[in-house]
Amino acid sequence: MSYSDYPSVLLIYTGGTIGMRRNPETGALEAFDFDQLQEHVPELKRFNYRISSYQFNPPIDSSDMEPSLWTKLVRIITDNYEEFDGFVILHGTDTMAYTASALSFMLENLKKPVILTGSQLPIDMLRTDGKENLIASIEIAAAKHEDGASIVPEVCIFFENQLLRGNRTTKINAENFNAFRSYNYPTLATAGIHIKYEYDRILKPDYQKSLKSHYLYDTNIAILTLFPGIQENIISTVLHAPGLKAIVLKTYGSGNAPQKRWFIDLLKDATTRGIIIVNISQCPSGMVEMERYETGLHLLDAGVISGYDSTVESVITKLMFLLGHGKSEEEIRHLMTVPVAGEFTIPV
Ligand code: ASP
Repeated sequence: MSYSDYPSVLLIYTGGTIGMRRNPETGALEAFDFDQLQEHVPELKRFNYRISSYQFNPPIDSSDMEPSLWTKLVRIITDNYEEFDGFVILHGTDTMAYTASALSFMLENLKKPVILTGSQLPIDMLRTDGKENLIASIEIAAAKHEDGASIVPEVCIFFENQLLRGNRTTKINAENFNAFRSYNYPTLATAGIHIKYEYDRILKPDYQKSLKSHYLYDTNIAILTLFPGIQENIISTVLHAPGLKAIVLKTYGSGNAPQKRWFIDLLKDATTRGIIIVNISQCPSGMVEMERYETGLHLLDAGVISGYDSTVESVITKLMFLLGHGKSEEEIRHLMTVPVAGEFTIPV
C-alpha cells in the first residue's frame, strides 16, 4: 500500500480552548500553535492515516468568528477536497454551531465528512476532553463504507461521544464536557467501545452531483426575542433598521406571539416592505405550528414564515446564505420552507 492509499484527513485548526494554554502572568487562556497541539496528542502519530494540517494564523477565539472566515474554511475544504477523505475542524465551542450550520449550506452536494470539534478544557490539561474529541473525530472523518463512500457525508459536530448534525446543534453548557445538544434530531453516531453509526439518520448525498461551494453571504439580519412587556417603539426601531432584510423572530411555545394590533400591524408592514420574518420558538425542543393557536394565526396573516423546528444558528446562517445569493423575496420565502441540508423536520 502506498502512502497515498492510507485514509487521509485534513485537520484545520481555527483556534478555541482545545489549543489554548494559561498565560502564567495574566491567568487568561491564550492560543498556542498547532505544532504544540500535536505535541500534546502523541496518539495522532499512532493513526495509520495520512494527517495533514492547516492552521489559522493567528488562531482565534470563536467569539471572533466571522462569515468571511466561513468562506475561508469553504475555500480550504474545496481546494483540498479531492486529496482527503475527510476534514476535521478544530473550533472554539462558543460559535461552533453557527460555523457548522453555515458550512452545511455553503458546501452544497457534500459527499465527505466535515467534523467540527473542540474542547472545554485545553488539550495540555490532564483532564482534557480535547484528546478524545479529536481522536474520534479523525476516525469518523476517515470512515468509509466497503464501496469507498464516506459513512458520514455531512457537516457534523462531535463532542463528548456524540456525533450530531451540525445545523441541528446548539451549545447548551459553558462548563460541562457535554456542551452540545441536538434537540430536534437524533444523534448520528455514538462513540463507545466502537463508533456506532445510525445509518438511517445520516444524509444520503446525490453521487451524480459534484461539490458546489458557495462564498456569498449577506448579514443584514436581526434576531428579535419576544418577552411579555416588549415595547412598540423598540420593535418598530428594529423593523425599520436601515438595510434590514430579514428577522428571526423568537416566539413563545409552538410559535405564539402577542395578539396586540400594533404588534401584528408592525410585522405586516415589515413583510409588505419585503422583509422576511422567520418564526422560531424560544423552546429549544419542538416545532413551530402557527395554525395551532389563534395567537399564531395572526402571525401567518402578517406574512411571517415558519422556521419549524430549526435552531436559531441554522435559520440565521441559511438566511445569510440565501440573501447573499441575491435570491428574490419569493424564492427565499420558498427555500426557507424546504430543508436543503437536513436542517429542519418537514411537518407531516
Ligand atoms: N471561548 C472559547 C471559544 O469559543 C471557548 C471554547 O473554545 O470552548 O473559542
